Amino acid sequence: MSESFDIRRWFKNPEELLVISGPCSVETREQLMTTAKGLSEIDKVKVLRGGIWKPRTRPDAFEGIGEEGLRWMKEAKEKYGFLTMTEVAVPDHVNLALKNGIDILWLGARTVANPFSVQELADCLKGCDIPVFVKNPIAPDLKLWLGAFERLGSAGLTCLGGIHRGFSSYDDTRYRNAPVWEIPVELKRLRPDIQIITDVSHICGCRELLQEVAQKALDFGTLGFMIESHCDPEKALTDANQQITPESLKKALNHLVIKKRVVDEDEFVLQNLRKEIDIIDDELLNLLAKRMNVSEKIGEFKKEHKVAVLQMDRWSKVLEDHINKGVNLGLDEESVKDIFEIIHKDSIKKQLY
Ligand code: PEP
Ligand code: MN
Repeated sequence: MSESFDIRRWFKNPEELLVISGPCSVETREQLMTTAKGLSEIDKVKVLRGGIWKPRTRPDAFEGIGEEGLRWMKEAKEKYGFLTMTEVAVPDHVNLALKNGIDILWLGARTVANPFSVQELADCLKGCDIPVFVKNPIAPDLKLWLGAFERLGSAGLTCLGGIHRGFSSYDDTRYRNAPVWEIPVELKRLRPDIQIITDVSHICGCRELLQEVAQKALDFGTLGFMIESHCDPEKALTDANQQITPESLKKALNHLVIKKRVVDEDEFVLQNLRKEIDIIDDELLNLLAKRMNVSEKIGEFKKEHKVAVLQMDRWSKVLEDHINKGVNLGLDEESVKDIFEIIHKDSIKKQLY
């Protein structure tokens, strides 16, 4: 990495894609320095990440190297010119990170799920306007994510970014954490001042999906990436399946098609709103098809039991109820009536033939 990178300027004008990389966990001095050396050969990587304290599900897993690792981060920073970044979960972490010259902090998905923890960190950060990225909480709960920004904002922090790292879900097996793209899009709509980047590693959970998901994130207008890298990924003590070598990262970044530079904030919001509309329209179509299937079954039942297709009393009642509900939701009375008349006509047509 040649010239130094100004993260504060990036927050004000995120024209350039921000690429953050480094190991899930800092394990040894050698592992960190070798990984950092590899990353220093990729111009786009401006920030070195390293997990020093690891939030582990089970107590017997590797819980991070602790303070010693911060000194290696400092050494890598001085040698290669990176900005450094680590996860903080308790005030003690913040104090140690600041003492050791860490430039950027992030709050992890588990921490953001707990407003007490976020408030404690916000109180500890008061008066120290260090850039902080906030990962989305594990559950797909936008309000928790928003709440964390509000707490940190109230503590006087002005460089706040979001990291979209996907959401825990029972039914999506393709990803480690389902992306649910509408949530970061909605965050951007509600808080256009928050710059959002994508942690593709924790969304994917495996190396194979990284390229595809990174491209999709770019298509959704992401302003940067966090991607875990390790000099020997298979031997990593944490998240071994999803880390990649600096060489693979270089290739992956070169393959990305950056379709459009996000320069105009309004244009970014518009693009994302259009994508949101497309997703909703898709859902509407699926629902209509589902409704038509049920309607066909009703038609068969009526035929079998010699019941007339049009039950006028029921139809009048249903239409009236729908109109009332629609009006309560802020929809236009005439439009709701028109929409349901079309849907009903279609159902009757299906049942008659
Ligand atoms: C990490 O970045 O290594 C990490 C623990 O992330 P998350 O909080 O998103 O699970
Ligand atoms: Mn990790």
